[in-house]
Amino acid sequence: MKRISLLGSTGSIGVNVLNIVRDFPDQFEIVGLAAGSNVELLSKQVVEFKPQLISVIDHEHSRKLEAQLPPDYRDRIVYGNAGNEQVAALPDANFTVSAIVGAAGLQPTLAAIHAGKDIGLANKETLVMAGKIVMDAVRQTGVLLFPIDSEHSAIFQALEGGRREDVNKIILTASGGPFRQKSASELRDVTPKQALNHPNWSMGKKISIDSATLMNKGLEVIEARWLFNMHSDDIEVVIHPQSIVHSLVEYQDGSVLAQLGIPDMRIPIAYALSYPQRLSLNLKRLSLSQCANLQFDEPDYQRFPALQLAFNALSNGGVLPAVLNAANEEAVEAFLDGKIAFPQISELVAMAMDSVDAGDENSLEDILGADRLSRKLVTDRVSRGS
Ligand code: NAD
Ligand code: MG
Repeated sequence: MKRISLLGSTGSIGVNVLNIVRDFPDQFEIVGLAAGSNVELLSKQVVEFKPQLISVIDHEHSRKLEAQLPPDYRDRIVYGNAGNEQVAALPDANFTVSAIVGAAGLQPTLAAIHAGKDIGLANKETLVMAGKIVMDAVRQTGVLLFPIDSEHSAIFQALEGGRREDVNKIILTASGGPFRQKSASELRDVTPKQALNHPNWSMGKKISIDSATLMNKGLEVIEARWLFNMHSDDIEVVIHPQSIVHSLVEYQDGSVLAQLGIPDMRIPIAYALSYPQRLSLNLKRLSLSQCANLQFDEPDYQRFPALQLAFNALSNGGVLPAVLNAANEEAVEAFLDGKIAFPQISELVAMAMDSVDAGDENSLEDILGADRLSRKLVTDRVSRGS
């Protein structure tokens, strides 16, 4: 039995994790739930899944949740980063799903690893910010880390088809997002509503904007570097608008292994939860004849500079990936609030990266400090309006 602590339970990934748990009650049980401010949905999840411990974003929301639950839940509600960490490391859990969005996911994920939990990782920001620290902790504790991101799940699966030393490179596919065919001048006028309208996937707001800028693919390149211990020169990105081929591995004999499927996150989530078993999922099946025209194109680094910024952050190392990530989070929020235009997201990320020294061997404190500095650089620039 997998006893799961689920971080980010009210989000797009979290809800899909619970859909799988609901369908396979003899295999999975929920012991902890953590979420942000959606108390309405969280309280329904608590009533259905009866976790031992629940965390919400802050004290105010813990009071709201308490008011919606039977009295015996009163001393089972915690909050904030400390609350997330408590749920992540719950003694009774043996598997923690990390599906909070953004930098807030890092410390609870580390807490779960240090507590010896196996991890299902959706929160790519964890590896972007602190890939080395996280992977060192994974090795030291011997926990298993399973990717939930669809591309990384595909690579994880394709790597099972050969020996690690025979791998030549990995190829991440990207849908290209809703603005794949827009010109640079058209990109200046796109709205948050248009950016949130992803052609193939239904996801949370932040990752939807990241998909539109291609920053999501940049973050995934960094995620892949750490998950699979690849050099950045051996990670390639290809635009594949249909999102059917989820990613590929090229071996040294020229063979290329891929994983295909309909774009539905329940497939990679289920594989992370049940590895090496494959669950019998009741989903629409892939019809090859109906998706006969699979396209593959090179990314356009001019129109979508975020992808290049991520490669730069990876090759310069130090705290720069954390700076990129934090600047991006703040810039995405400013774009969603209507304060900046779409191309300024990447401009602000570049500005922050130019303003901070990479450093070399970095501690968690260095990384969290760089995260704070980067956010301040971006929010100051946004509020000056220049
Ligand atoms: P989402 O916005 O739908 O959900 C985010 C969840 O995190 C919510 O439950 C929210 O309440 C919670 N949360 C936010 N801040 C929190 C905090 N400080 N403390 C506790 N909980 C907090 O996001 P999502 O689309 O589900 O994405 C979650 C993560 O998974 C992201 O890192 C994203 O990059 C990754 N991911 C998502 C998808 C997808 O299809 N949605 C695919 C691959 C990877
Ligand atoms: Mg992905």
